Amino acid sequence: MGAKSELESLKNISKEVKESVILKLQDISELALRLDESRSRYVVELEREKARRAAELEAAEKRFNRINQENLDRYSKMENKMEKLLAEVASTKEMLGQMRVPEALAEIRKVVARPAPRIMNYAEAAAKPKTAAAAAKTPGPSTRLGTGHTLIVASKFENHTAEHVITKLRGVVDAREMGVAVDRMRKARGQKVVLSCSSVEDAKKIEERLKIRGADLKVAKPEMRLPTVIIRDVLRVNSDEDIVRSLRTQNRHLSEGLDWDKVRARVCYRRRARNDLECHPVLEVSPELYHRLIKAGFVYVGLQRRPVWDQSPLVQCSRCLGYGHGKRFCKEVSERCAHCGGEHTGITCRARKDGEPPKCVNCTKAGCEDTAHGAFSSECGVRAKWDDMARSKVAYC
Ligand SMILES: [Zn+2]
Ligand SMILES: [Zn+2]
Ligand SMILES: [Zn+2]
Repeated sequence: MGAKSELESLKNISKEVKESVILKLQDISELALRLDESRSRYVVELEREKARRAAELEAAEKRFNRINQENLDRYSKMENKMEKLLAEVASTKEMLGQMRVPEALAEIRKVVARPAPRIMNYAEAAAKPKTAAAAAKTPGPSTRLGTGHTLIVASKFENHTAEHVITKLRGVVDAREMGVAVDRMRKARGQKVVLSCSSVEDAKKIEERLKIRGADLKVAKPEMRLPTVIIRDVLRVNSDEDIVRSLRTQNRHLSEGLDWDKVRARVCYRRRARNDLECHPVLEVSPELYHRLIKAGFVYVGLQRRPVWDQSPLVQCSRCLGYGHGKRFCKEVSERCAHCGGEHTGITCRARKDGEPPKCVNCTKAGCEDTAHGAFSSECGVRAKWDDMARSKVAYC
């Protein structure tokens, strides 16, 4: 504006020129003003941008710190795990060292390479000394193998009850004075009393005493049952008589030196087979024939050659899965599952469908450690005990 008034004061410049220059000067000053304005706007925006950047930077830094911390945590956790793993590896190494793995493997290989042993039949198994530890582990009925441990005592008077017999027995047999060990005394049918002794010798001692001083008591040995065998998958068209006759006439491999007139053989019952036209007859046979059948392992019946196996005399209830009685004499109200022991039949068992391991109802009741088998399994400890007891009443020789 100073330039404008200076220009106006000059006399030697024409009015037109003056006006034109003044206009230009005004334009210039306006331009300067606008420039100044835009500059200050730019500065403000720059400040704002700076602040935004700073905030972003701060957020990024925070984010980075957080991620860093997370990674650190993860790392330290992994370190812990690694340490544990290392400790485990060390202890496993130690264990393996103690177990002498290479030697153990060599042993296993040797055993595997050996031919599989032939399955013993019952008489052979019974003849071998039992592993007492295994039997002792399983609770169940106390049993003695073989015969001669049991005495059956009755009164000579028919009107005497088992109570009478017990009273008399106590009077005559003083176990303390005689030094005999009696496992059990129980009443039996027909006013009889059954004494189970711990040894044949003790049973004999008591028998002698009763003979001498027993007065009106009489002693009998328990009646032994015949061994039983099962013939697999025999056509049902064969009658019971046919089957027994087949044993005699078609099986020279059993007959050598056998006096058939003294041999007893009888079909007791038939078990159902998978094939409707066939069945598994169960036979009661003389001990001599029993051993020959088990040794041979097969028989000819009609137009068939069939396997013959030992059949346990043990009775198992199909309702409660207990032993020593059949379904008809069962006192339980509900059915038991052979797989899980639940109150349902095996066919409807959910545990079985879901592939859960079996749980033996009898071993569970008896409080055994090993219950992971079905109630019909031959692995069952309770079953083995009852089987022993049932077999102790069978004359295998
Ligand atoms: Zn039952
Ligand atoms: Zn079940
Ligand atoms: Zn069991």
